[in-house]
Amino acid sequence: MSRILRPFGVFAPQGDVARFSVSGTSPAPFLRSGRQWSGSNLPHEPTRHVIPVRSKVSPLPYARVTRLKNREHFPVLVIGTGIAGLTTAFVLASAGVRVLLVTKAADPRDCNTFWAQGGIIYEGEGDSPDSLIADILRAGAGISNEEAVRFLASEGPRVVKELLLDEIDVPFSTTEEGELDLTQEGAHSLPRIIHAGDATGRAIEVSLLNRVKEEPNVTLATEVTAIDLLTTHHHPGDIQIRYRLANECVGAYILDNQTKEVYTIFADYTVLATGGIGQIYLHSTNTRHAIGDGIVMAHRAGARIMNAEYVQFHPTALADKKANHFLISEALRGEGARLRNQKGEYFMEKYAPELKDLAPRDVVARAIVEEMTTNKDEFVYLDLANFYNGHEPIADRFPNIRKACAEIGVDIERDPIPVVPAAHYFCGGVLVNTAGETTLSRLFSVGETSCSGLHGANRLASTSLLEGLTWGYYAAHSIREKLQSAAPVAEPGIRRALSSRPAGIGAVAPSTVATIPDWQPSGSANLEDPALILQDWTAIQNTMWNYVGIVRTYERLKRAAADMSQLGYRLEKFYHEASISKSIVELFHGQRMAAIVASAAIRNPTSRGAHFRKD
Ligand SMILES: Cc1cc2nc3c(=O)[nH]c(=O)nc-3n(C[C@H](O)[C@H](O)[C@H](O)COP(=O)(O)OP(=O)(O)OC[C@H]3O[C@@H](n4cnc5c(N)ncnc54)[C@H](O)[C@@H]3O)c2cc1C
Repeated sequence: MSRILRPFGVFAPQGDVARFSVSGTSPAPFLRSGRQWSGSNLPHEPTRHVIPVRSKVSPLPYARVTRLKNREHFPVLVIGTGIAGLTTAFVLASAGVRVLLVTKAADPRDCNTFWAQGGIIYEGEGDSPDSLIADILRAGAGISNEEAVRFLASEGPRVVKELLLDEIDVPFSTTEEGELDLTQEGAHSLPRIIHAGDATGRAIEVSLLNRVKEEPNVTLATEVTAIDLLTTHHHPGDIQIRYRLANECVGAYILDNQTKEVYTIFADYTVLATGGIGQIYLHSTNTRHAIGDGIVMAHRAGARIMNAEYVQFHPTALADKKANHFLISEALRGEGARLRNQKGEYFMEKYAPELKDLAPRDVVARAIVEEMTTNKDEFVYLDLANFYNGHEPIADRFPNIRKACAEIGVDIERDPIPVVPAAHYFCGGVLVNTAGETTLSRLFSVGETSCSGLHGANRLASTSLLEGLTWGYYAAHSIREKLQSAAPVAEPGIRRALSSRPAGIGAVAPSTVATIPDWQPSGSANLEDPALILQDWTAIQNTMWNYVGIVRTYERLKRAAADMSQLGYRLEKFYHEASISKSIVELFHGQRMAAIVASAAIRNPTSRGAHFRKD
């Protein structure tokens, strides 16, 4: 098996990629020159006949559950097994670093990454980093972090090539000539997205997981929930440490979902890759795990959270509760599908005369809400059957969407698809630089849980998988460099050296971790009454949907903030009386996440991108 040490030599920065200053000073200039794409390294024009997915990714037994040991130490703790966490863990492990990788799900595939449909940005015919930068900045509505955008446009496609194509060999869809099939999505200026049929996330997740599973340096623990970060200010038993100016993250308290034991896990570096927040809304395309755990833990530990008011709603989720708001990918509109109301009027031209059905998501979502409200309808239709302009038969291009729709009696080759908007992607998160470092020392964050400023006020379609991959890759590189600084050694003895290195610059001092106490259970009462928990979740989700949703006003936001604060007061009490469990931690975190979003939204009176104030 080829190792992934090579990428660090070939593509990784040799000390020349600028880092944002986490201490708040101006970012250093972006020194790495962007790659110039040329015609010679571009995939060929796709032909009419496209093979949906090259080969099936092999199923794996995923029951690799590791029992944790209390006060165990790992060089790196990665929380989350989506594209961001898996990439970080894989790249580190391949370079010889021991990693504990945890997920609160029973199956590590159970995450948003698995459900991504449309694809991941690569590079199109006649494409260039400048063209991608322009598209991302336009979608970001003027508040993107330009350094992060340039970084993604310059580095992202080559990480795709290096990691996903050459190293992991994800079975992306190809043309009959064996070239990658390129598709276009809303607000992209040309087709530059590669996909695996309409199950791109599944192909990436399973392929990455297959490789992570082979890595002896990765310890994978499933059904364990990170409940709080360990910091030297937050939890030290030693009063002298509390007087230090610098605060550091030195691991996390991790709950075993089954036994309800809480383990104190130490790490020199902790990486939050806990995904998004969709579940705090009534309608969401996200998995049940996406409630913002990582963001809430980072917030509590003192890390800076950014852009929390920018929640992107996907305009087209299947309007059927039984179908759990199955996502109807933007790729359908990219391949011709048009929106119409129940009166049969194709309405997007009215709201976006130029881009029409390919307008950015927020514009499309608001147009749908406007049509639904005006016509008192519960959904609108997406008409693929009459406008499809793809190369291959609909059944081959969108097999999973076809199947999900068929389950509710809709034949997408014949019928219009009933759709509603749903909470989909969180543009905000834990503030990070291009290395994934947060404002809290030794804490990294990657993927949807982080905010690099890449998306600004709104995300361009298919940038999030690329962001998770790119930031995971470079966070791993940065952590590896920091660990090496503890005991610098030349390749190829890195594996041996890192596993036996003494504590030094890169490692947490043993005297520091000794002061961190084990988890102190605050309550002992068994208050895990499903009715109580369900009612509180209903309150959170309805409040967020109705008051902090697609169209916001000061009055609605004020009500939401007040309701969330009242619920928070009650839950704080509940949390301290109840014995710990996954569902109680999640409820507590869900309320905190809702309060963070509501208060950011109320503080920002300016409509921009995904944050729309009607007043
Ligand atoms: C239906 C759907 C379709 C999408 N389509 C696309 C697309 O076509 N292209 C694109 O670029 N993006 C798409 N996206 C967005 C993209 O999938 C996500 O932004 C991306 O996969 C997030 O990856 P991640 O690694 O950050 O998080 P996730 O993949 O969500 O993984 C989060 C992980 O963290 C774990 N976790 C959470 N909290 C804890 C905790 N407290 N303790 C332990 N573990 C925890 C979860 O169990 C999970 O393993 C789509 C999203 C959805 C929902």
